[in-house]
Amino acid sequence: MSNASGADGADGAATSTKPRYHKRTFTGVGQKELNKEIAKLPKETLALWEKYGGDETDDKEAFQKSFIRHVTTTLARSIYNIDNFSAYQATAHSVRDRLIKRWNETQQTHTEADSKRVYYLSLEFLLGRSLDNALLNLGLKDNCGEGVKELGFAMEDVLDQEVDAALGNGGLGRLAACYMDSLATLDYPAWGYGLRYTYGIFQQRLKDGYQVEFPDYWLNFDNPWELPRLDVVVDVKFYGSVNRYTDEKGRKRYAWEGIDTVQSVAYDVPIPGYGTKNCINIRLWSSKPKRQFDLSRFNEGQYEQAVQEQMQAENITAVLYPNDNHMVGKELRLKQQYFWVAASLFDIVRRFKKSQRPWSHFPDQVAIQLNDTHPSLAIVELQRILVDLEGVDWDDAWEIVTRTFAFTNHTILPEAMERWPVPMVQYLLPRHMQIIFDINLFFLQKVEKAFPDNRDLLARLSIIEESTPQFVRMAHLAVVGSHRVNGVAELHSELIKKTIFKDFIQYYGNDSKFENKTNGITPRRWLHQANPKLSELITDTLGNKNWLKNLDLLKGLKSYVDNKDFRKRWVAAKHSNKVRLTEYIKKTTGIIVNSNALFDVQVKRIHEYKRQFMNILGVIHRYNTLKKMTSEERADVVHRVVIFGGKAAPGYYIAKLVIKLINSVAEVVNNDNSIEDSLKVAFIPDYNVSVAEIIIPASDISQHISTAGTEASGTSNMKFVLNGGLILGTVDGANIEIHEEIGDDNIFMFGNLAHQVDDLRHAHRYRNVPMDPSLQAVINDIESGQFGDSRIFAPLINTLTLGQDYYLISDDFQSYLDAQKLVDEAYKDKEGWITKSILCSANMGKFSSDRAIQEYAERIWNIEPVPVVTKKHI
Ligand SMILES: *Cc1c(COP(=O)(O)O)cnc(C)c1O
Repeated sequence: MSNASGADGADGAATSTKPRYHKRTFTGVGQKELNKEIAKLPKETLALWEKYGGDETDDKEAFQKSFIRHVTTTLARSIYNIDNFSAYQATAHSVRDRLIKRWNETQQTHTEADSKRVYYLSLEFLLGRSLDNALLNLGLKDNCGEGVKELGFAMEDVLDQEVDAALGNGGLGRLAACYMDSLATLDYPAWGYGLRYTYGIFQQRLKDGYQVEFPDYWLNFDNPWELPRLDVVVDVKFYGSVNRYTDEKGRKRYAWEGIDTVQSVAYDVPIPGYGTKNCINIRLWSSKPKRQFDLSRFNEGQYEQAVQEQMQAENITAVLYPNDNHMVGKELRLKQQYFWVAASLFDIVRRFKKSQRPWSHFPDQVAIQLNDTHPSLAIVELQRILVDLEGVDWDDAWEIVTRTFAFTNHTILPEAMERWPVPMVQYLLPRHMQIIFDINLFFLQKVEKAFPDNRDLLARLSIIEESTPQFVRMAHLAVVGSHRVNGVAELHSELIKKTIFKDFIQYYGNDSKFENKTNGITPRRWLHQANPKLSELITDTLGNKNWLKNLDLLKGLKSYVDNKDFRKRWVAAKHSNKVRLTEYIKKTTGIIVNSNALFDVQVKRIHEYKRQFMNILGVIHRYNTLKKMTSEERADVVHRVVIFGGKAAPGYYIAKLVIKLINSVAEVVNNDNSIEDSLKVAFIPDYNVSVAEIIIPASDISQHISTAGTEASGTSNMKFVLNGGLILGTVDGANIEIHEEIGDDNIFMFGNLAHQVDDLRHAHRYRNVPMDPSLQAVINDIESGQFGDSRIFAPLINTLTLGQDYYLISDDFQSYLDAQKLVDEAYKDKEGWITKSILCSANMGKFSSDRAIQEYAERIWNIEPVPVVTKKHI
């Protein structure tokens, strides 16, 4: 790569164009030297900067002035044609001005401190909306709320105009977003690196009960939450060949001559911390063609080819791949990964080089966290930069690389394991493929020394899978190239050591590099913003807002569990959330539900391992049980609203059929007057972060019912319990730790355990396991045509029979129904349920992403907080 310039914002003039206040290019200029240069400016100039720099204050009047200025200048509108959307834009731009100020101060502080930074590499950042979060974190909520009201708008309507930044699929992308929030809040000098997809996760609509996908053109209107940095550009090469040469020291060196160059342009997304001035950055790269249109081609009449080239380059960041926990081996996806990794590493290395330290200090200045295997090529790219471009010896370089990287594993599902065909990697990135082979060779040589004559072990540990064609195992590359590997919940971290990384444990030993970092969620978004009434009650009760920065303080609520007034307000908050959701369901589905019924929620990506199928089968069982009851018997049952939401990957046929079945069942159940409203079913379309913020605070019980051992952690389970919702769950992922924290009385656990799964699957395969009778009855109901043409659902039923019930629905079904019965019984005891609800929230301190980030910072990254100092001159 060449030709890159770059700036961190506060680096200011660090561009390829001539800096205004200092003559040298920025590379190699330290902050101290810069300060000296600034001090040489005429006094009058400095005085102007001090007088006018950063005059955006936080009071109501300043906001209103700024709002009106943005309406008239930024939007070119007036009092005559300002609608809710313009009001949103004007508010957003006013907030953005203040955000940029903090962002600048932060970058300048970090540059000056020059301490170790952490870089979080994630292909997905599922940020959702930004305005409400920015208002909260900048402390502008009250002043802006009043300011907007006086200008004739309701803040609620204004907030509702924003479209989600949906640059992620589900849990993994949302985790990255929560972690950025915590990194900012805890004052860490951190960066996120990702891709700026033109199209985020598709929009889901329903037609005749089927999912249909629509493009999510989220950049249709301007995006006030990003700062285009058209001056920060990195060239990324693909394809080409490798040349060998001897350098001036007589060493054999390799040079990659890429042929296809694509430019990577930076867009910066400021992430403000809560209760701090720290405002960190997510740098999202966007692809653009290196050359503009080739004029000679126009002259030759090759207009189409010239345009095509342009389009191809733009293609790289055009769309987010919509698969969750599933690998699809498309070359464009591999291109995305390298494009992102190459630009990010160039940027990181450029920043390191400014301080002119020796390369051996790199791991003391830089920690890079790999969010899943998607950025594993970063390991190879850093080795290439060090060895090929910087002339560092291979072994020294490898020491630097492995001390820099750490890797988070997110799944053990075989279909999710990333493997790329060697010929594809070779063609796209010939030098990287060589380096991977060398990394593998040196690694296996070490293994061979420790375990002589164990060819099977070598084959199992190899980064290369010896099939035809060969494959690169990205998880193996990530393990070998990192000094730490972590799972995302206790059970998951234990399981990876026994399954996919078993052989690595044999080689590295049990306590070497593998550890656990249980996931977390940010209480700012998932309680304070999503559930303002409950948040207010907690603050009133505890006497202050400290719990927002120290979630363990929630345990202070326990002493109010018997306080009548507190309980009353607790119930009122929950009920108002249920009313809000009732209205949302009516608006989006037309279905009318009773807000006094038990709200039973399962919202998450649709996947066989998550078993939404089992849930709807249970609903059918309930429905037909209700139908058999007399009116008097029914008078006794708890009324339920079963709420589903979630997207299926567009190519995931079975998952899409589950959505159809849910809607077919809903159609029948909701229109059956004979059961007297005792059961309603609703599938809420287009589940995303903003929809989650409405659904989650309204749940009484939520389902996290994956086959034991398949859900690495789950994070929505944490969101629900934090909001005083109970869980019906399997002994899987973070459910187990939630159970430990909140106690037996406040959670409904059921089903077979992870260690039983292999035997059960074996039985389905080789023995005649009789079908669970309750499940058989439900299957018969579907096959009888009770929910429409049964042929439609045959492939789904087949997964239980011909498909040998891989996710063990039949094995867990009875225990699931029993647990549901316990839920009904418990809900009848209104006072008992309120107690459970309170104790759930009160015991959730552990699951703050602040705790998780602190553990990463101390145990893996070895970084310290850097409090932001307010700057003059900006
Ligand atoms: C939290 C969250 C998820 C993750 O849900 P799980 O139930 O843990 O899989 C997925 N999507 C959205 C929009 C979320 O907010």
